[in-house]
Amino acid sequence: MNVLVIGKGGREHSILLKLAESADIKNLYAAPGNGGIAQHATCVAINETEIDQLVDFAKRNQIDLTVVGPEKPLLDGIANRFQDEGLKVFAPTKEAALLEGSKSFAKEFMQKYAIPTAGYATFTDPEEAKSHIKENGAPIVIKADGLAAGKGVVVAETVEEALEAVDNMLVNKAFAEAGETIVVEECLVGKEFSLMAFVNEGNVYPMVPARDHKRAYDNDQGPNTGGMGAFAPVEDITPEIIAYTTREVLQKTADGMVEEGRPFTGILYAGLMQTEDGPKVIEFNTRFGDPETQVVLPLLQNDLLQVFLDVLDGKDPQLKWDDQVALGVVVASVGYPGSYEKGVQLPEIPREGNAYVVHAGTKKVADGIVSDGGRVLLVGAKETNMNEAAKTVYQTLKSLDDTDGFFYRKDIGKH
Ligand code: ATP
Repeated sequence: MNVLVIGKGGREHSILLKLAESADIKNLYAAPGNGGIAQHATCVAINETEIDQLVDFAKRNQIDLTVVGPEKPLLDGIANRFQDEGLKVFAPTKEAALLEGSKSFAKEFMQKYAIPTAGYATFTDPEEAKSHIKENGAPIVIKADGLAAGKGVVVAETVEEALEAVDNMLVNKAFAEAGETIVVEECLVGKEFSLMAFVNEGNVYPMVPARDHKRAYDNDQGPNTGGMGAFAPVEDITPEIIAYTTREVLQKTADGMVEEGRPFTGILYAGLMQTEDGPKVIEFNTRFGDPETQVVLPLLQNDLLQVFLDVLDGKDPQLKWDDQVALGVVVASVGYPGSYEKGVQLPEIPREGNAYVVHAGTKKVADGIVSDGGRVLLVGAKETNMNEAAKTVYQTLKSLDDTDGFFYRKDIGKH
């Protein structure tokens, strides 16, 4: 089979690494891919949002299956276009991707189908939002309605901070259209985890839970990022919590979307807070998480190509998971999530034991591989326990300590 993966991050490299294990793959393509992906797939210079060119490429190269990594093309209707052209695609339609694309849609949907989540109100008028905040007090959470690459959320510790966030979004229009509507939410307290599932309309096949680390620096300090490290599974997320989340969140969401006439097929990602009253949804994503995918897929025993095909055919993929743990630490460019330099040469990373390397913002050049983004790569390891995995990862990361221009968190999996 000929398979095309759309995207250029660590998530896509991880999907491709797993697909490359399948005996049924003839040609593996990535658009546009990255420096690591180029080592085992053909990279095609088409960006993730150039849907016409992607359709054209898929037709000309007899692509049997396309897998879409990032969210932007989903909301632009890439799945709709591929389906209209009779091309097989593993991704939700733009109608279904609204679960990620509009936080107000997601909140209203959860309320309608009694899916556990934080209490909320939506506003377009800054004065109304402010009086709501003054009435409810802090801590309180302010979110831009649309896509803001993880930057449109303010967890305000004080009322002043919350009012400032309202001005920033509704008055100063910091997120343009994505912030014309805001969601003001109750602040949840607990431990975060995420649960992803392969979904085909009413059929839900959950993966193992993962925990991401969003803050830039050790001990959860510093600004929010796309994610600085993750591990899976999560010890404190018991089989009972997983069963509850599968039933009350994932299954209800899948069924509700069918009911709404927006049937969901693809990867459903629930970001959750384990509160005193049980798990509550913080957000939905309608695609694989990054960096969670880089620690979840290495634990999957099945042939990933077969899983995608089975799920699309309405068959149970019979998922099987390794009885091990995976942990991954992101290596980022100094300055990330703010401005940073690109084009820094990456040293050779000798892999210790069961370590693996997943590329994100990297580019292949004539004499090696250079950085090309904020999150550059992830060093992961699959071991029998978290201590071992952390030991292997951090041993491997030592090889980067003499290279200027990069940093990584030293505390992933150590709390
Ligand atoms: P991303 O796309 O990067 O995952 P996002 O922009 O969709 O992020 P959310 O996931 O909704 O934003 O929120 C980002 C982070 O803010 C969460 O991971 C969580 O730590 C915190 N957060 C969001 N909502 C709440 C809440 N109601 N209570 C407490 N913390 C929250």
